[in-house]
Amino acid sequence: MILTYKLRHHRDFSDELRKAKQVAEFGIKQKTLSSKDVKHIGLKSMISNQILRKYVKNKKVKSIKSVKLTIPNQGIKVEKRSRKITIPCLKLILEYQFPDFEKINQIEIGKEFACISVTIPDVETKKIDNYIGVDRNTTGHIAVVANPETGKIWKLGKKGLHIHNKYKNIRTSLQKKGKYRKIKQIKDRESRIVKDLNHKISRKIVDTAVKNNSGIKLEDLTGIRDNKKQKKSFRYALNSWSFYQLQMFIEYKAKMQGVEVVYIDPRYTSKSCSRCGLIGNRNGKSFKCICGYVDHADVNAAFNIGRSTKERDLVEGNTDTPKAALGSAKPMVQYHHPDRT
Ligand SMILES: [Zn+2]
Repeated sequence: MILTYKLRHHRDFSDELRKAKQVAEFGIKQKTLSSKDVKHIGLKSMISNQILRKYVKNKKVKSIKSVKLTIPNQGIKVEKRSRKITIPCLKLILEYQFPDFEKINQIEIGKEFACISVTIPDVETKKIDNYIGVDRNTTGHIAVVANPETGKIWKLGKKGLHIHNKYKNIRTSLQKKGKYRKIKQIKDRESRIVKDLNHKISRKIVDTAVKNNSGIKLEDLTGIRDNKKQKKSFRYALNSWSFYQLQMFIEYKAKMQGVEVVYIDPRYTSKSCSRCGLIGNRNGKSFKCICGYVDHADVNAAFNIGRSTKERDLVEGNTDTPKAALGSAKPMVQYHHPDRT
């Protein structure tokens, strides 16, 4: 599995970054792949080589707004004992805290951050037949987890809706005042808080699966995401992005521990009774069934998800996508943010 960690490098590379852009522009104009042709610009040839390869060979790359300094594996030294990564040609030393890795594929350096792409050895998925069910929600707790084997439940991310409402109110009042730049800042802050929360929730879910020696079952919500009508609503857009992020975090953390993640058909998970299987009566957050079972609707759904055998593999193509990054020990999965398209 490939993960990318993002570290602040605390250096001013504006001169090199400017040269990097010149190299890309020159390369495209002259259609050259040779670093000798751009020697006059004065960037290290190892970096020029990478940039030419990326921008000249790849016809898809059209905009050269900000060109990063790309350092290939050969230009990177790692001292695992002291947790130091050295890039000799830039005289840059980075200290890292993230978990052990097999090798560094490359490092991309921008204005503030170094994005370190690492290969992590694949862990074999454990063979199990118990699953914990995870019900994701837009109201109440972000995730309700249930273990049908033991009957135990975990309610995670109570603050989710509160955070969303708080920032929505701030945004609304800024909008009225016409402070649009501030709105962008507020959106970014909310994204960071939600991201942090999703990291914590996904960590707890994967740890719970490990402790209970079980896999994880989630609803396949791709169908819901593709619904065009719902896409229009901002509230929905935010939730959809956050749902997807949580899913990606669960996936890569589970993969690192060899925990299986399975997606199931969501059609009946909230309507059926988790005790007898009949269609029950759901009213807001309460669930009642004629068999006498009464429970919180999300808890009932989580039990149904954990027990469900109606598997779906629609999301399978996503399991290898963790890319991009954030912060010290937390790789961030690249996701699609509907607000920014
Ligand atoms: Zn029932």
